[in-house]
Amino acid sequence: MKVSIKKSKTIDLDQAEKSVRELLAVIGEDSSREGLRDTPSRVAKSYLSLFGGYQEDPKKLITVFDNEGYDEMIIAKDIDFYSTCEHHMLPFFGKAYVGYIPDDKIIGLSKMPRLVEIFSRRLQNQERLTKQVADTLHDMLHPLGGGVVIKAEHMCMKARGGEKQNCEISTSSFRGLFKKNLNTRAEFLDLIK
Ligand code: ZN
Repeated sequence: MKVSIKKSKTIDLDQAEKSVRELLAVIGEDSSREGLRDTPSRVAKSYLSLFGGYQEDPKKLITVFDNEGYDEMIIAKDIDFYSTCEHHMLPFFGKAYVGYIPDDKIIGLSKMPRLVEIFSRRLQNQERLTKQVADTLHDMLHPLGGGVVIKAEHMCMKARGGEKQNCEISTSSFRGLFKKNLNTRAEFLDLIK
């Protein structure tokens, strides 16, 4: 069965199920035992949402509006996100903070979390995710400045033990005034505390 996501591309669920069944055998499991019988199909279907971001083009989904003279910072804080690391295919998750100072254009407030979601529903690394959100906001709005901060926990660090249990990774990407003007950057970092 092939399920179409947003018409353009498909994930071959049959092939995905088959691959998961093979992986179960590789780790010494019996994929026909009761607890695992439906696991390959559940995993395959979960990929539709975990990796649904490939099919979404933020520039088509997100409408830009004219700014009516607002000239201070707009910030979306504590955006929960969930992504999958491309090195281990294990989850990494945490909070994203997105801010900008508009010039002529703004986007709807709910679209800032939406941008984070689109790029997190792919195989990612945290650095790229941070930069893609900042770049897209910059390309769509040409704001006077913009910034993205992401703080995340990585299961590939935690699950494999050691002393990395409480390690949080922070990344940031700044554009325009957020990069050039230290006061602007400090204001943003203070407001997202
Ligand atoms: Zn990893």
